[in-house]
Amino acid sequence: MNPGDEPISSRDGPRDECGVFGVYAPESEVARLAYFGLFALQHRGQESAGIATCEDGRIMTLRELGLVSQVFNEEKLSALEGDAAVGHVRYSTTGSSAWENAQPVYRSDEHEIALAHNGNLINAVQLHSELRDRGVDFRSTSDSEIIAALLSTHPAKRVEDAVAEVVPRLEGAFSTVVMTSDAVIAFRDPLGLRPLALGKLGDRFCVASESCAFDIIGAEFMRDVSPGEMVVLGERGLETRQVVESPRKAFCVFEHIYFARPDTILEGNRTQVSRRKMGEILWRESPVEADVVIAVPDSGNPAATGYSKASGISKDDGLIKNRYVARTFIQPGQELRKHGLRMKFNPLPEVVSGKRLVVVDDSIVRGNTTRQIVKMLRDAGAAEVHMRISAPPIRHPCHYGVDMSTSQEMVAHGRTVEEIAEELDCDSLAYLSLDGVYEAIRAERATHCDACFTGDYPLARTEDANGKFALEELPLIRA
Ligand code: SF4
Repeated sequence: MNPGDEPISSRDGPRDECGVFGVYAPESEVARLAYFGLFALQHRGQESAGIATCEDGRIMTLRELGLVSQVFNEEKLSALEGDAAVGHVRYSTTGSSAWENAQPVYRSDEHEIALAHNGNLINAVQLHSELRDRGVDFRSTSDSEIIAALLSTHPAKRVEDAVAEVVPRLEGAFSTVVMTSDAVIAFRDPLGLRPLALGKLGDRFCVASESCAFDIIGAEFMRDVSPGEMVVLGERGLETRQVVESPRKAFCVFEHIYFARPDTILEGNRTQVSRRKMGEILWRESPVEADVVIAVPDSGNPAATGYSKASGISKDDGLIKNRYVARTFIQPGQELRKHGLRMKFNPLPEVVSGKRLVVVDDSIVRGNTTRQIVKMLRDAGAAEVHMRISAPPIRHPCHYGVDMSTSQEMVAHGRTVEEIAEELDCDSLAYLSLDGVYEAIRAERATHCDACFTGDYPLARTEDANGKFALEELPLIRA
């Protein structure tokens, strides 16, 4: 595809993963709490949404393709009554986006459960064939149903005990919430790759991928669920158990750079503040003489503010974003195609014409968007375009729940920064160093994953991991 030919629904950045939510609060309208919790997590996945509630020991699940606001209405929410709820928003990292792969996953083998998962198992194929050998049927092709099947078919009397035995067998990233007949159980993989936060709602408790889901329902953020920890929210309040210890932690550094919402607190840092700091350090590391700083909206905004503040170069809105374009699946057709990315961004000639621009974005994956932005700004009269990226070059795929294309598709693959600049046709290009990232989030490499920048995967055998559609190549018995 040539630049400008891209369908406007496609995105050039890394794809968000999934978001999970769980609450135990018999005196509240739990489905409504889940709805608003998911509404706040919508940025983590826009393909499907679902909520499961439990009343008198019976679980009800509603899940559909679409945004949270499209899937649920008053009538549907009112039908979901109960003491507890779990919910999910999905971007398909494993399995296609078909309805069967929407979550929460429901199973009722030995135990009746509904499960919602953010992450990706790297031993999914092996676990799947093991379950198949035991005669377990599957309805979906997502690795989340593998976790659900391992728990639901487990002989332990209590699901909590099943979790304690199953978690050590799972390899990869999993921040998971499980509804049982009387509780919500949440657990996180031993490396803590994906986030999971614990909140308090009056005397009750809730969990969510990000703390921004607590703010919207009036809950208070308590702490992150620890890597390898299981928390149980139920009639006895909050119970916790460390089900597996890991010699190291590996929280995804990209959550700080790009995924999490700016108002979320990650590892004690307000994400917006960390991203601003990344922009300040980017100026310190890679200054440039320019007239105006502009952001690639919205994700480049905080780093652009930091760059502007540190440099003293004023910031202005040179690119206007159509916020609804990600949901436009009507293809533009031949006539409109030549306008390419203008469907998504539109430059303001009054701001950029005749100016030396510093354009700040948070990441470049394939480079198509950046290339088109540079061209668009030049067409609008920019005198110079200096790209500044508040993350290091992405050169390796993620196997832990984020869709980032293959290495070959990445513009930084096999290229020096100078060669990338040439490829993108900008006057200069600079990336934030990895040290700069860690300085901004006040943390160390030893406790984080940065494999998409460095290729140092924190789990052995990661690179043999099954691809996104690996499970779809296996014979599935559809129940
Ligand atoms: S590879 Fe990148 S996106 Fe994936 S978990 Fe590691 S840091 Fe995060």
